Amino acid sequence: MPAPAGPEAGDGRDAAPILPVVEDVARVLAPALAIDVGGSKLAAGIVDGEGRLLVSRRVPTPVTADPAAVWAALETLVGAVRAEYGRPVAGAGVGCGGPMSWPAGEVSPLNLPAWRDFPLRAAVRDLLRAGRTSSRAPSGPVRLHNDAVCVAVGEHWRGAGRGRRDVLGMVVSTGVGGGLVLGDRLIDGASGNAGHIGHVLVQPADQPDSPLCGCGARGCLEAVARGPAVVGWAQRQGWVGEPTGVALAASAAGGNPVARAAFARAGRALGLGIASAVNLCDVSVVAIGGGLVGAGAPLLEPLAAAYAERARLPFSRRAQVVPARLGADAGLVGAAALVLCADRYWTVD
Ligand SMILES: [Zn+2]
Repeated sequence: MPAPAGPEAGDGRDAAPILPVVEDVARVLAPALAIDVGGSKLAAGIVDGEGRLLVSRRVPTPVTADPAAVWAALETLVGAVRAEYGRPVAGAGVGCGGPMSWPAGEVSPLNLPAWRDFPLRAAVRDLLRAGRTSSRAPSGPVRLHNDAVCVAVGEHWRGAGRGRRDVLGMVVSTGVGGGLVLGDRLIDGASGNAGHIGHVLVQPADQPDSPLCGCGARGCLEAVARGPAVVGWAQRQGWVGEPTGVALAASAAGGNPVARAAFARAGRALGLGIASAVNLCDVSVVAIGGGLVGAGAPLLEPLAAAYAERARLPFSRRAQVVPARLGADAGLVGAAALVLCADRYWTVD
């Protein structure tokens, strides 16, 4: 019988080195660059292997139709963070608003109209290569995911879901998004959109007050519970005030019945959507972050009541719905985890 051919034949030429080369060790041990791109702010930071944010900066997103001007602002921000840190990084993790092609990383964020099919992952890769101290030094991987997925990863790694295997992380802000971790692994889905709870349906499409969602459907959770939708509903009921979630929350805290009703309506929709998600996915923790959660009891008490009413199976009754812990840093910490904890949070390349 002839000897087997191919790389296993034992000539050694194709074998991996037993010890990684020194540059690779440095890369494994080094912190990662983290980037978070949103419609109102750009953030960048350096995150170490413990999930600590060593350096961070943020700037307002330029209001412009010029894609190059937005990129220039991000490039300047990243340059400032890297200069402040002053040492090599293991790679870069990027969170960005959707939609996007994933994992290719061409982004068209709803709240950032200057970028349509902008090749963000490739641009950050070029930036990291250009910033090397020598042309032989590795630049490390660049990985990109939806910003709400990054928040969910951050909360699972170092926040409210730490130590739990099955977690839904959510953001309730200008939009409603989320990410899903099952069995200690981030679940991507076919196109990187698994866990996107914002488009779970919470109202029948033919109900007269079912609002139209940005996705084109009626009755999505996002269409009811995103900040601008909550403020808009209050205004249509006669509420007057500065049209922001913060002002509406202050009004609700002061007892204004219309403001309270607006948050109660959003809270009930969230409770309903979360109950469906928990029944479907059997998570043990749901961590909710994002600016609108700052409204507190007027949002969270109706949410808890609606969840208790709708989640009746023993496993879904046991699931905990809790506030996220990492606050505004969650997106950066989660983006870095795409590089630093790739075994749990990155499945493609
Ligand atoms: Zn929708």
